[in-house]
Amino acid sequence: MSITENYQRLRRDIPEHVTIVLAAKTRTPDEVLEAIASGATDIGENYVQEAETMQQALGDAVRRVRWHFIGALQTNKINKALPLFDVFQTIDSLEKAQAFETRAARFGRVWPVYLEVNIAAEISKVGLPPEYEQIEQLARQMAQLEHLRVEGIMTMGMFTPDPEDSRPYFRAARQIFDRLGALSLPNVTMKTLSMGMSDSYRVAIEEGSNMVRLGTIVFGARQYA
Ligand SMILES: *Cc1c(COP(=O)(O)O)cnc(C)c1O
Repeated sequence: MSITENYQRLRRDIPEHVTIVLAAKTRTPDEVLEAIASGATDIGENYVQEAETMQQALGDAVRRVRWHFIGALQTNKINKALPLFDVFQTIDSLEKAQAFETRAARFGRVWPVYLEVNIAAEISKVGLPPEYEQIEQLARQMAQLEHLRVEGIMTMGMFTPDPEDSRPYFRAARQIFDRLGALSLPNVTMKTLSMGMSDSYRVAIEEGSNMVRLGTIVFGARQYA
């Protein structure tokens, strides 16, 4: 099946209120162009340098989609990243939030950001520990920062062959999302719950996700050089 067929089938199957972010890592500009021509609205990139190269190759098509940063954000790359992305999904500490704030202020713009939660507390992964109190504390601190708006929660879930194993973790992420939203903090609005990938998006949506990040299921298996 082609990228176009894959994307359009998924767009038909996935409820309208769920945003599909296409994870573009390792893909060529032609593949991403095909996805955009098929109606893709949101692209995710894990690396700042790859995003820059991709955007240069895409030309005018760049402005037809929103760009999401979904990789590990390094402080020394934030300046370069800011003009390339519309949303930053992976803020996971006050230190990072403050580094982001200082640099975003120089651009005089406000960016939506999500808090990345390591919901299954897997040691190999980045993200905030899943303890609610800690997450709330960070959200309260970030409410003071003027050049970012906390608009959601992002989580990777868990890597397991059976997506049902992820269900309790997705449910826990949803609870954090709802509790934070209920606080009605200034500058913190829980609009987006970003969870679910190619193998787990159905379960994630059943548990309340309204943004899935899909790579393999649209573009095919990744080949690493
Ligand atoms: C690669 C990636 C995805 C998509 O993974 P697939 O299994 O290919 O769908 C989603 N989120 C992040 C953060 C990724 O790096």
